[in-house]
Amino acid sequence: MATRYERAGVAPLMPVLDAVRAYLAHQRDPLHAPEAPAQIHVAGQLVWISGLRLQTLATATVCQCSNRACAVMATHVAVERQVDGHGMPLTGHGYHLNVYGLRGEVEVLFTHDHTLARSLGGANDLTNTTPMCLACNATKSRHEHVLLGQRRRAEGLDPQTGMVAEGQVVEYRHRMVQLAAQHGLAVDAYRDWLNAEGAAGQSDLPWVHPDGLGQRLGLTRNGLQVLQQQHNRHQRVQVKPAVVAQQAMVACRIDALSDHLQACAAVQGLTPDAFRAQLEADAVAHGALDPDWTPSNKHREQAKRLALSDAALVEFRAHYPRRPTPGPMPTSAPRHASPRRARP
Ligand SMILES: [Zn+2]
Repeated sequence: MATRYERAGVAPLMPVLDAVRAYLAHQRDPLHAPEAPAQIHVAGQLVWISGLRLQTLATATVCQCSNRACAVMATHVAVERQVDGHGMPLTGHGYHLNVYGLRGEVEVLFTHDHTLARSLGGANDLTNTTPMCLACNATKSRHEHVLLGQRRRAEGLDPQTGMVAEGQVVEYRHRMVQLAAQHGLAVDAYRDWLNAEGAAGQSDLPWVHPDGLGQRLGLTRNGLQVLQQQHNRHQRVQVKPAVVAQQAMVACRIDALSDHLQACAAVQGLTPDAFRAQLEADAVAHGALDPDWTPSNKHREQAKRLALSDAALVEFRAHYPRRPTPGPMPTSAPRHASPRRARP
């Protein structure tokens, strides 16, 4: 529900910002800057001017969103207090200053945006705030919400609540036990090592989150990151040989087929190319390709590497299987005769 305000009056923005700057100057340098109050009278009400929103507006008065189409400028302040649905003042909500600009005839409320959102670890002071209209701020907040979800996920937290997900605790604990065993350490000793390594090797992580997962595992945030790195390294080591072995197997199979094709050609007294031509002709004669059959990627790759059409590959595999020794190839033939030597 939109916040409802009761308005006591309006005033131009600039004199208010002058008072804010004077107040800030005195706070920063009380010895040299003249004393300036934190409260002033506007539209008959005594209101605070020391808040971060007004301090931020004193640095710039145009919406600082990246949305160039906005560029709305703050022009005036209103002395307002929050009321409920019946227009009754909310307890604890006295009169204060709200800053407004105009888009056409419509009033636009100004807020102070945290450049790096507080939920993402941004500071709550002038080093991290810029003036922004309410609409632009809301748009930016939606983007930040998505980013926050991603970061929470990366920390093993529930993206919506920021709470640690139970499944993640179990999974990470399991990782920790496994990695401790691989290091030949007891889990407690491994945990101490992770925390020490985290403290020694790294600066603080760039965002502040409830360290739910780390706490549950007895790890600091940096210690948790070291665990994650160790896990990733371990994953890579495990994955790589499997991939290499698979690739080697594919290459090996193609090499074996190529050897076999040359041997079959030699046995028939043909050059490999002549044997290929014969396979192509036989494929046409036999109608080796089932019209409903689509060669797999593996078959296509084999055919390409053997310089055969898909149909000729099928012909080759059907009529010249490696085991048992095929009919057209005499059983006494040398299995791996070199084509050159066998040429007539
Ligand atoms: Zn804006």
